Amino acid sequence: MVHGYGLKLGKTLIQFYYNLIIFSGMLMFRTGWKDGDDLSDYSSSGVWESIRAREPEVDWYNIVWFGQCIPRHAFFMWLIMRQKLMTQDKILQWNHTRNNNMNMICCLLCYEDIDSHHHLFFECKFSAQIWDRVRIEAGMRNVDPKWSAIVDWLRHRARSKSAANLICRLIVAASAYAIWRERNTRFFKNHARPPENVCDSIFDMVRYKLMGLKFKNTPKVRALLDKWKIHGDSVVDDGG
Ligand SMILES: [Zn+2]
Repeated sequence: MVHGYGLKLGKTLIQFYYNLIIFSGMLMFRTGWKDGDDLSDYSSSGVWESIRAREPEVDWYNIVWFGQCIPRHAFFMWLIMRQKLMTQDKILQWNHTRNNNMNMICCLLCYEDIDSHHHLFFECKFSAQIWDRVRIEAGMRNVDPKWSAIVDWLRHRARSKSAANLICRLIVAASAYAIWRERNTRFFKNHARPPENVCDSIFDMVRYKLMGLKFKNTPKVRALLDKWKIHGDSVVDDGG
């Protein structure tokens, strides 16, 4: 006898079922998953494939998500790419009856404009100072402090698996994360750091990540790791 529970997603009926069968004299319990006409044994990955929402693949996914990413930075990058951060320009859009407090809103990093995705990454004077310094370490010294320019630059090199390219992606993500964190620390804790300190925290985050990775043992990679003051056999590995 087959028992089951159904779930209607769009025109597709997804059904979890279980079946009691007798095998070699023993009563067995068997579970399965039915997605439309497809019947398969139950697995969490199969269920996920059935119920997850699908959208067209974006051309920037591999500058956000990659094997050696720092997960919280990658998630933050995704929020920026989707313009999901609760920036001041959005808050002002929702508040149609601007009161005095709302009129006083301004970017807590430069105090010159309201903050927005474009402003924070990296057109704000404070953020631009950070970008001026980190882009040198990232080998992106000709890239302007504009999110679109940075994403374009990374996207053209997204398929590269070189250590230098990995460092670029880590630095960009760490910089955006550190700027947002600095902005929130100023707002919630009234504590401000100068851009030099924020830069130092960015380099620390990237360096700690690099220390835990394995790289091919080539002169170019060794020179790059030396620059980041990373030494030792545990880091450089012939296996790639
Ligand atoms: Zn600003």
